[in-house]
Amino acid sequence: MTPPRTFTIRTFGCQMNEHDSERVAGLLVADGLVPAAEDAEADVVVFNTCTIRENADLKLYSALGHLKALKARRPDVQIVVGGCLAQKDRGAIVERAGWVDVVVGTHNWAATPALLARARTLGPQVAVRDFPDPEANRELAPALHAVREVPWAAWMTIQTGCDNSCAYCIVPAVRGREISRPLDDLLIEARDLVSRGVTEITVLGQNVNSYGRDITGRRPLFARLLRELGDVEGLERIRFTSPHPKDLRPETIAAMAQTPAVCPQLHLPLQSGSNRVLSAMRRGYRVERYLERLSAARAAIDDLAVTTDLIVGFPGESDAEFDETLAVVAEAQFDAAYTFIFSPREGTRAAELAGAVAPEVIHERFTRLTEVLDRSALRHHSAREGRHEEVLVEGVSKRRDTAWSGRTRQGKLVHFARPGEEVVPGSLVTVAITHGAPYYLVGDVVAVLRGPRHRQRIALRVS
Ligand code: SF4
Repeated sequence: MTPPRTFTIRTFGCQMNEHDSERVAGLLVADGLVPAAEDAEADVVVFNTCTIRENADLKLYSALGHLKALKARRPDVQIVVGGCLAQKDRGAIVERAGWVDVVVGTHNWAATPALLARARTLGPQVAVRDFPDPEANRELAPALHAVREVPWAAWMTIQTGCDNSCAYCIVPAVRGREISRPLDDLLIEARDLVSRGVTEITVLGQNVNSYGRDITGRRPLFARLLRELGDVEGLERIRFTSPHPKDLRPETIAAMAQTPAVCPQLHLPLQSGSNRVLSAMRRGYRVERYLERLSAARAAIDDLAVTTDLIVGFPGESDAEFDETLAVVAEAQFDAAYTFIFSPREGTRAAELAGAVAPEVIHERFTRLTEVLDRSALRHHSAREGRHEEVLVEGVSKRRDTAWSGRTRQGKLVHFARPGEEVVPGSLVTVAITHGAPYYLVGDVVAVLRGPRHRQRIALRVS
């Protein structure tokens, strides 16, 4: 009997891409392929690309360059390039790397198995759509197709695309307008995930709190989604990313506060503390509105942890405007933040803007911003010392292999000594916090609340 063909998937970029890769893996497994440990052993090598991170394209083409020799040695190997950079560059990828077999966009990953078959006889296939094929979307949705990286926690895409037009962002150009998945489909998928032992679901979207606006034509359904997911028996933790501050409505805050399974964690990207810069970024809100939404959330939701995104060095950002950002960040007292140095993306409005900030100035601002952020992070984490935290165990800590780690309901990383064999990935334990550092907590397991609920899974290599 001929052994099944094998595949590997390399994922660049965000959680949306990581989850898309899980679904592409599900499609290939459904088509009879099995995961391989290394590209060198694989019959199909898939690249799920990003176009946001700087040098994303350079990284892809250097990786493709390494595969040219493999393809020369094993002509049957097939190479697939998909995702955001494929959506943007399309046929140019085959022109530049003629050994690529399939180029597929963000909207039609579902066509991958058919395109692989066609490429074997007809040569390279470039299939990029400018809008999702409704059938493809529905076909990709059911959870059973996704080969998930982690069996106790799952991502669930609730929406693709984005209707906003932030000046620095290429996402609307490569992922299109917002398309929300039907609420019933999401509840079916959530129940199915829980029946497989998943206890934590993170719902994904570029702008989750506008979920359902395209379905109702008016009012988002996000608050309703949170409440209905909260009624799914056995679902202990619900997280979401990424919301947009201008769409953080009172009913969403109320749903978070009144739905026990929704974790007290809110990622609210601020980007800048200057109203002139926010307007140039086309973010659609002012600092005052942002802070008002933030304090409304903190007032309503107990023990809420708030994280954010910040861009340093947006074109034209003056010293005074950066100082405004520092002041707002100090006032907001974030638990943590993802900080980015502005990098112009071809095809965005911001790439055309004058007033580039000098690298040494950006560096100096970045250092000052990190100091302010670390101070508030340390303040938040020191305040957890002496508390008991419920922790979902992930396994051996990535920081130090003598320790294990997991996440609190606030999403905070906790390192602890494994008390015994009964504690395994997916277990739920109580940890007494002994130390708070800026980026993590340390503690001792004082109780095992329950063991894992999941069953075995297929190992998937996501690099
Ligand atoms: S909200 Fe803005 S930054 Fe986020 S994906 Fe949409 S356009 Fe990009």
